[in-house]
Amino acid sequence: MSALILVTGGTGLVGQAIKYVIETEPEGSRFGKKPGEKWIFASSSEGDLRDAEQTKKLFEKYKPTHVIHLAALVGGLFKNMKYKATFLRDNTLINDNVLHTSHLTGVTKLISCLSTCVYPDKVEYPLDETKIHLGLPHESNFGYAHAKRMVDIANHAYKDQFGSNFTSAIPTNVFGPHDNFDLEDAHVIPALLHKCYLSKKNGTPFIVGGTGKPLRQFIYSRDLAKLFIWQLREYDDVEPIIFSVGEDEEVSIKQVTDAIVKAMDFKGEYTFDTTKADGQFRKPASNKKLLSLIGDFQFTPFEKALDETVKWFLENYDTARTGKNRKTT
Ligand code: NAP
Ligand code: GDP
Repeated sequence: MSALILVTGGTGLVGQAIKYVIETEPEGSRFGKKPGEKWIFASSSEGDLRDAEQTKKLFEKYKPTHVIHLAALVGGLFKNMKYKATFLRDNTLINDNVLHTSHLTGVTKLISCLSTCVYPDKVEYPLDETKIHLGLPHESNFGYAHAKRMVDIANHAYKDQFGSNFTSAIPTNVFGPHDNFDLEDAHVIPALLHKCYLSKKNGTPFIVGGTGKPLRQFIYSRDLAKLFIWQLREYDDVEPIIFSVGEDEEVSIKQVTDAIVKAMDFKGEYTFDTTKADGQFRKPASNKKLLSLIGDFQFTPFEKALDETVKWFLENYDTARTGKNRKTT
């Protein structure tokens, strides 16, 4: 069977992880490339998906049969707090263009990417796939959260009206090679890795934002990539699936910092800047649905994944996204 799989946001953290897995797993295996498949990893330079015409041109160029839609305006807590309107508008436009163009061009399967950040702030834990719309998201990221939640609404609407095979995935906090290591705008792991690197190199203070007490679940991008490939091939339902490690694997920001210090072999001290926001205290998500469907799946141990990320960061420091060429939002 021939299939053209278009990965939007193919140059980002998650897109590059899918590329890595598809290219390195044995051909024909569960996560490797299958005969007849062609994978395209698109960047924004091939088309700005906020723009309907450019989206149409990208789809006309590749004629995808399947789409993994990752393209988004993405950032950590501090970027989300600063640019709420832009997060809402850019992501709303991108998602509307990709979903509607997929519908108009007869894409047979579309997976979009949500996040556990989109869940209600006040809700009974653990988060599961039935609770997305049960209340308002945390105020720190309500622009991003509302735009992303609408994808689930749209998936249902397209299915009900047109029978479309559109679905979504809900990952927790992702990290790995090719991440955005910007000091201000990145998620916590890449931001702290970069800060630790500079402290070690320059002997400057290593300062961690907030109290260090909030808890998060982290998923390695190359594990997440396998889950997307599995979902593309083996899951045909509109309801989303949470992609997460177990609920018992929540770690505090302090524990994450200690792991980074160890992985970076940093001998100095660090301090917390408690004038900086903590964001949501915790958002533990259940991976029960995922495990019941996929069967046996081995997540990479956190410290091994962190070591691989550090290695990639050190080897690619000069070309990695470290904020040198930050685009203004
Ligand atoms: P990322 O590393 O920042 O990559 C973003 C990707 O989207 C890049 O390929 C970028 O292209 C593309 N993009 C951004 N704006 C675009 C536009 N206007 N038109 C076309 N392409 C555009 O992000 P990521 O971390 O891989 O995130 C992938 C998906 O996972 C997103 O949907 C995100 O919401 C979701 N997610 C991420 C996390 C996380 O912790 N990172 C957690 C949960 C969910 P260029 O390279 O050309 O800029
Ligand atoms: P979130 O999981 O969506 O909240 O996003 P982040 O990956 O940005 O993680 C935010 C948590 O890490 C908050 O508790 C922050 O206080 C804490 N944190 C500590 N230092 C940093 C930092 O340098 N950057 C970011 N993004 N978060 C930090």
